[in-house]
Amino acid sequence: MTASRLDGRLCASAVENSLKVEVQNCMDSGVNPHLAVVIVGDDPASHVYVNNKVKACERLGIISTHISLPSNTTESELVTEIERLNADASIHGILIQSPLPKHMDEEGITDLISPSKDVDGFHPVNLGRLVQGRTDGMLPCTPAGVIEMLKWANIETEGKNAVILGRSRIVGMPMSLLLAAKGCDSTVTITHSRTQNLAEVCKQADILVAAVGIPELVKKDWVKQGAVVVDVGINRVEDLSIERGWRLTGDVDPDVAEVASWLSPVPGGVGPMTIAMLMINTINAAKSTI
Ligand code: NAD
Repeated sequence: MTASRLDGRLCASAVENSLKVEVQNCMDSGVNPHLAVVIVGDDPASHVYVNNKVKACERLGIISTHISLPSNTTESELVTEIERLNADASIHGILIQSPLPKHMDEEGITDLISPSKDVDGFHPVNLGRLVQGRTDGMLPCTPAGVIEMLKWANIETEGKNAVILGRSRIVGMPMSLLLAAKGCDSTVTITHSRTQNLAEVCKQADILVAAVGIPELVKKDWVKQGAVVVDVGINRVEDLSIERGWRLTGDVDPDVAEVASWLSPVPGGVGPMTIAMLMINTINAAKSTI
């Protein structure tokens, strides 16, 4: 078997096309969706991610304000900036690019964003709603993007065994909640760094989502014939055979394509979907003010 490509670029472009009319509807009602993206420091990968988000806004006609603060910004200066953005009625979404410098409490900062502007979906109010099974609010973008990709490819989730590698607040845990929620109805197993016999647990999966951050951890013999495999990982590994000296790879060994029915590529899989879901959250936040 050679896995079909779970193509996040194609799916994200379909999502974006459907969003253009939503943006127009907002504008017709006198509201121009507006996203503020705050980045602190000079991590090159983070700047690439922020630029991709700003470009997606441009494609859709969403206003974006890009606020770049130096790495020696104090936490209280960042708090002041968030309070200003919370109070600005023309701004509908606030995104603080992760990671923040080590001297800042990232979770504490997330708590300060107004839940109605929390387009990342990480505020305790929004995550708490998800725990309650309420999937109609601001959902964390990466796991919501995975669900959208599965729907786009007509992949059945009801009654399937889903195994999630990773239990982070950003990906693994909300991914598990979304797959278990009414509507997806999967039977979910959450695995993590202390899980024993990980390969055997993975082998039970009809749907396997890897969000660990270890290059090519998931091997071909961990995967059941015909399983759907979603690779969330983005890892930079040395590759001296190419000029820049590094390449991106996921958490899944590419040989898994020999046994899986579907496999998402890295890059070009979950990454573009994360941005598409951010656009949905921003537009929904704008719509809620009309
Ligand atoms: P994280 O470091 O917060 O969490 C990693 C999780 O993996 C932890 O829960 C940990 O318990 C688990 N883990 C660690 N070692 C393990 C092992 N040997 N076996 C099983 N589980 C193990 O990372 P994160 O923020 O959840 O991100 C995970 C990966 O996804 C990273 O590569 C990150 O770059 C990527 N990511 C991609 C997107 C995207 O848009 N595609 C978005 C967010 C994160």
